[in-house]
Amino acid sequence: MSAIVISIGDELVSGLTINTNAAWLSQQLATCGIRTLEHLTVGDDASAISMIIGSAVTRCNTLIISGGLGPTEDDLTRTALAAALDEPLVEDAAALADIEAFFRKLQRPMSPSNRLQALRPASARCLANTCGTAPGMALSRGNTAIFVLPGVPREMKAMFSQGVLPELSAGQTEIVARTMQLNTAGLGESVLGERIADFMRRGAKPRVGTAVHDGLVSIRVYAEGHLAEVEASLERTSLDISQRLGALVFSRGDVPLEQACAEALRLAGQTVTTAESCTGGMVAARLTNISGSSSWFKQGWVTYSNTSKVQELGVDEAIIATHGAVSDETARAMALGARHQAATDWAVAITGIAGPDGGTAEKPVGLVYIAIAGAAGAQVYRYNFVGGRTDVRLRATVSALNLLRLHVAGVDVRSVLG
Ligand code: ATP
Ligand code: MG
Repeated sequence: MSAIVISIGDELVSGLTINTNAAWLSQQLATCGIRTLEHLTVGDDASAISMIIGSAVTRCNTLIISGGLGPTEDDLTRTALAAALDEPLVEDAAALADIEAFFRKLQRPMSPSNRLQALRPASARCLANTCGTAPGMALSRGNTAIFVLPGVPREMKAMFSQGVLPELSAGQTEIVARTMQLNTAGLGESVLGERIADFMRRGAKPRVGTAVHDGLVSIRVYAEGHLAEVEASLERTSLDISQRLGALVFSRGDVPLEQACAEALRLAGQTVTTAESCTGGMVAARLTNISGSSSWFKQGWVTYSNTSKVQELGVDEAIIATHGAVSDETARAMALGARHQAATDWAVAITGIAGPDGGTAEKPVGLVYIAIAGAAGAQVYRYNFVGGRTDVRLRATVSALNLLRLHVAGVDVRSVLG
């Protein structure tokens, strides 16, 4: 089973809009065991659209087209599709009734151009749009099933899930493709890759690869085959890798690092506070992004100036004067001060030089100290992050969350991170 995804719109070919629809659609198709052969993108030009459809339809069993279904002059997909298949356009009575009902519900007058959206090639049937006006279309030509969806991602996803996926899954062969993702923090991609080199060997089944994103390294396990075997093999390999990597793996799927912190804190029945300098509250923002965080996140400080570190956290002025604001000693004093002031079980403190200015030979841009204070006192970790201001701040945030998670779980951090 093979698919081609065609994306239509000038804004896509000009680069003003990133084509997220094609990526999402291919991921969805893969879950039904349908492999995407090509992504084709074309501007709002009726003859170009027509040509690309006419040629793609001969090379795949599933053709998905998104965009250009709107009521405006530049929405040409219906006309181009009809021309490519050499079919007349007819008005679909049920689709017209849906569009009229949509406007009645919004209590807005329907413009005559919306009526054009009820047109479809004669052999097509319309797919309902539950969140917009443009109906989609489904038809077949030879051995190829063709689905036409709106460009607006929210509408496209809803229509695909409700009107296309059930049909594709029903016609699905036994063969599926699945991916399982393990998320790690604390080691770079190459070091991590070496630890699991035997799993990542070329030709190994299931396939294992690493991907860097959001300051983290994820491991993706990919398998194709019969559903039950695929699921069993993904589970087995994921468990083997998790066992090898131990506490480096913080979650599966799309569970974020702050969720892992939340789970560790909830499990321990403990609370946390933050005192941030160079990350400006990013750690607190991530932690409070978790619903229910009020039960374990007490308060946080953004103590950017030396004065605020002294006044808000009770850091001894002499520490800053002797060692500097970016130092092991200041980070430690910030964490201990914050933990004391907020009366929490844990405190995370961050002080560093995010750049691009402010670095010296002794304390370069990217130097960040992160302290974690708990009942047993404070531990300080020193980092030299590379990259611009955004990278340094992101890496500091991710490292702080990861250290918090490991400390709360009672893991020996230095043995895990080396
Ligand atoms: P509408 O009824 O809103 O006009 P449409 O089917 O005509 O729907 P388009 O006009 O092609 O859709 O696109 C509407 C908007 O959806 C675009 O401005 C763009 O922001 C977004 N969009 C379209 N195609 C894609 C895509 N492939 N990936 C991401 N966003 C897209
Ligand atoms: Mg449009």
